[in-house]
Order: sequence, then C-alpha cells, then structure tokens
Amino acid sequence: MPTFWSEQRVLVTGGSGFVGRSVVRQLDAKAPAAVFTPSSRDYDLTQPEAARQLFDDTDPTLVIHLAARVGGIGANMAHPAELYLANLLMGTYVIEEARRKGTDKSVLVGTICSYPKIVPMPFKEETLWDGYPEETNAPYGIAKKALLVHAQANRDQYGQNSVFLLPTNLFGPGDKFHPSVSHVIPALIKKCVDAKEQGSHTLDVWGTGAATREFLYVDDAAEGMLLAAEHYDGADPVNLGSGEELAIRDLAELIARHVGFDGELKWDPSKPDGQPRRKVDTTRAEKTFGFVAHTTMEDGLRRTIEWYLANRDEAESAAF
Ligand code: NAP
Repeated sequence: MPTFWSEQRVLVTGGSGFVGRSVVRQLDAKAPAAVFTPSSRDYDLTQPEAARQLFDDTDPTLVIHLAARVGGIGANMAHPAELYLANLLMGTYVIEEARRKGTDKSVLVGTICSYPKIVPMPFKEETLWDGYPEETNAPYGIAKKALLVHAQANRDQYGQNSVFLLPTNLFGPGDKFHPSVSHVIPALIKKCVDAKEQGSHTLDVWGTGAATREFLYVDDAAEGMLLAAEHYDGADPVNLGSGEELAIRDLAELIARHVGFDGELKWDPSKPDGQPRRKVDTTRAEKTFGFVAHTTMEDGLRRTIEWYLANRDEAESAAF
C-alpha cells in the first residue's frame, strides 16, 4: 500500500545542519521514494542559478527548507547584514524554484525571532505582525518573516502550497558549541564544562538572567516538521514549541547542576538579555497536525551534555 511518504521525493535544504540531521533521520525511517540533502558547497542557495540547478537535478515533490545562516545573540549582533541577506535570498529562491517546478508542497522553517519584541504572552500566531522584533535579532527575524509573505502571495496568485512554521529556540545533540555561533544552551554548557575543568570558582554569564525562553528538543521539532509536511496545508503560520517558559537564570543553574559545576554564576547586566520573554501558544500545531512536544527539559539537557562531552571537537568545529 502506498503511503504519503512512499510517494515523496523529498528535498531537505540544510539537511546536514543541526535540525536537518534530525529531520533526515526521521525521514529515512518513513522510507520515502528519495531524500536529497544538498550541501552549500554543491548548491549555494544564495545564488539563483544554483537554486535552479538544484531543483532541476532533484525534481522534488516535497521541500523542507532548513538551509539558513543562524546564530545566537552574539552572531546576530556581529553579522546582522549577512543574516538578513542570506536568509532572505535562500528562502526567496527556494520558494520561486518550487513554484517554477510545480513542487507539490514546501515546508518553510521560520523562527520565533520574527515575533514582535513586546507582545502578549504566550505568543499567538495572530500577533506576528503586531510590532518590530527585538533589535538584536530583527534582521534575521524579518528576513524569515518576509518569506511568509512571499509564500502567502504565491498561494493567493498561483495556488502554490507552502506551509510556514515558527519554532522556538531549539537544542539537543548535534548543536553548535563554538562561541561565535552558539545559542544560549550550548554556550552555557560549554562555559560550565570549561569552568569545571579549570577548577574555577566563578563563571561569568551574559545579561541579568531575568529573560525567559522556551526551548524545544531538536527531535521533537523535527517530528513537528514532518507532521506538518504530512497533515497541514494551511496558509497561516504555526508555532512549534514545548509550551514551557524558563528563566535564563534557572536554565543556567540547571545546566551547572547537570554538568557538576558548583561555583558561583556571576551575571553581567552590561551584556544584552535579548527579548525579555518568550513562550509560544502551541494550540494551533496540536489542533491542525497533532504536534505535542514530549521530551522533558531535564532529559533533553542530559542527552545534549552527554553528546557534547563525547564529541567536543565536532561540536566546537563550526564557527560563524
Ligand atoms: P545550521 O545547523 O546552521 O544548519 C544550516 C544548514 O544550512 C547547513 O546544512 C548548511 O549547509 C545550510 N546552508 C547554509 N548556507 C547555505 C547556502 N548558502 N546554501 C545552501 N545551504 C546553506 O542551522 P539549524 O540550527 O539546523 O537551523 C535549521 C533551520 O531551523 C533554519 O531555518 C533556522 O532558521 C531554523 N531554526 C533554528 C533554531 C535553532 O535554535 N537552531 C530555532 C528556530 C528556527 P552546509 O553545512 O552544507 O553549509
């Protein structure tokens, strides 16, 4: 009996990245007709000719667009122009090539960084356009958000089927730990491990610790993306999250405990906190394609720390 997946030729852009590897692992288990995971060396998707060539070479029925330039608050502040342009161009060319080739469906992966800086909690998809994003990640967030407009315009004018997901901060094994690019969880894990190994009694941490974030384990996020690919065909964006809000101060203490660093955490309020609070409303994902995150923060952190300790060279190899 053919299934939804057995008929699909799936192109996963960014398939070798942190999220992409988890998506491809889960995809392989569904045995689609073909899975393509092009690297940027072979197809630089910021170049229109390369995007065209990729779609001609693979002729996918389904695209999961994960290729992106991403980083934590430091990378966002140091490289705002590159983050804006690369993400806008890659998404634009992928959407246009999917249209040109008549690709059945595209799953576009956006970001929680697109939400306004100040918006009622939890973030509901309806409020996505109610203000300017937090300044440090606005170029990245707005480039991604522009792709939603592109997808909706193409749906209206050409009937092209693209769905748009808004994941919260992701974490898990395979994440990037180089300080030039790491997000808050890998950055804190590395700091705690280094401080413990050096026998330090204190550890400096950016910001006040008062900001809150929501985290989603990478395999849960990948599961949500594949559920959306199979079951969701709407024009409206959908949040992907765990629904749990955690203060950075509590997160840091949790990580220190898991790593076994028992010194003092010294907060540096001269460094930015980023967006004050983040937590998404996860109702739409559950109602429309049955997604509920199931990995607990404790389990996810334990697996992430174990992976980091066993793969430090790989984890720290990718700089911005
Ligand atoms: P990542 O680990 O940095 O992976 C990025 C991928 O994009 C890599 O496979 C890379 O391919 C590819 N890529 C970069 N530039 C490219 C180019 N010019 N042409 C073609 N491919 C290119 O990123 P990630 O964390 O997995 O993020 C995946 C997606 O999830 C992104 O869309 C991101 O915005 C979104 N997201 C991530 C998070 C998070 O916390 N990580 C949160 C929300 C949303 P090569 O390795 O071959 O260069």
